[in-house]
Amino acid sequence: MHYRSLGKTGIAVSRLCFGALTIGPLQANLPVAEGAAVIRKALERGVNFIDTAEYYRTYPYIRRALEGFTGEVVICSKCYAYTRKGMQQSLERALKELNREYIDIFMLHEQESALTIKGHWEAYEYLLEAKEKGLVRAAGLSTHHVACVQAAVAIPEIEIIHPLINHAGIGIADGTREEMLAAIKAAAAAGKGIYAMKALGGGHLLNKPEEAFNFVLSIPEITAVAVGMSTVDEVKYNTLLFSGEEVPAALKSTVRRRTRHLHIEEYCRGCGCCVERCGVGALSIKEGRAVVDEERCVFCGYCGAVCPDFCIKVI
Ligand code: SF4
Ligand code: SF4
Repeated sequence: MHYRSLGKTGIAVSRLCFGALTIGPLQANLPVAEGAAVIRKALERGVNFIDTAEYYRTYPYIRRALEGFTGEVVICSKCYAYTRKGMQQSLERALKELNREYIDIFMLHEQESALTIKGHWEAYEYLLEAKEKGLVRAAGLSTHHVACVQAAVAIPEIEIIHPLINHAGIGIADGTREEMLAAIKAAAAAGKGIYAMKALGGGHLLNKPEEAFNFVLSIPEITAVAVGMSTVDEVKYNTLLFSGEEVPAALKSTVRRRTRHLHIEEYCRGCGCCVERCGVGALSIKEGRAVVDEERCVFCGYCGAVCPDFCIKVI
């Protein structure tokens, strides 16, 4: 495994980051012991970086995976808090549920622009105070928006950016691949640590994963790439790929790179909660039911978490 330092933070991370969203209730919904075993296998194969979020509900998996593990592990979490109190509660929850004395990186989740950052600044200031107290090592934000990366360049307190980038530009909410690459370049020049998400376009690029990963890994400003994994074979496959080693043909065929879909149950009553939640505008209500535009969907599963009737699943 290769390791790099995230911006100016001095935090060294493996280039392959374990994206915890996939194992949890919003996606594969593995039993805790099973999901923890997948994370543990990644740690044993040199991955030292785990990306999660309060919204993913994966803290129990990570906590279990870390039990008895003696290596250094960097955890990044994030939340939607916009008040000081809300951020304090989210950070305290993470510390308690992960059984840690500090969280390495804590971020504002899904920011969009200078305006949304401003609207969350009170919460961010709490993070900066928590950093002074040693409860957080670095702070930042995650985003699907070019405008947000551009805005963060001018804000010295933002140390880490977790942007969406892939070779097809799938999921970038407000611009092109080239515009996002230019914003990433400017952010790195301003000293931000950058680790990417959605290198596989949320599943759209699963037919050629090597090409998709090689594109993101070849961007000089990208320190690491968060990749969702839900089986031990996926961990083996990705750790070999990220280490520049040959992936045996048998393993390639075992790791089924199947197309993903968003399944919406027939009993959907068209309340529209999921439509409001989707950040990429992939959902709409037609004839009283939610319908998805799979060309736009990045299969994050976020909409499933807000459906009062549990109608939506990434399959
Ligand atoms: S939130 Fe659930 S019930 Fe409401 S429109 Fe979406 S899928 Fe249908
Ligand atoms: S439709 Fe759901 S799974 Fe697809 S991008 Fe929107 S929130 Fe994510």
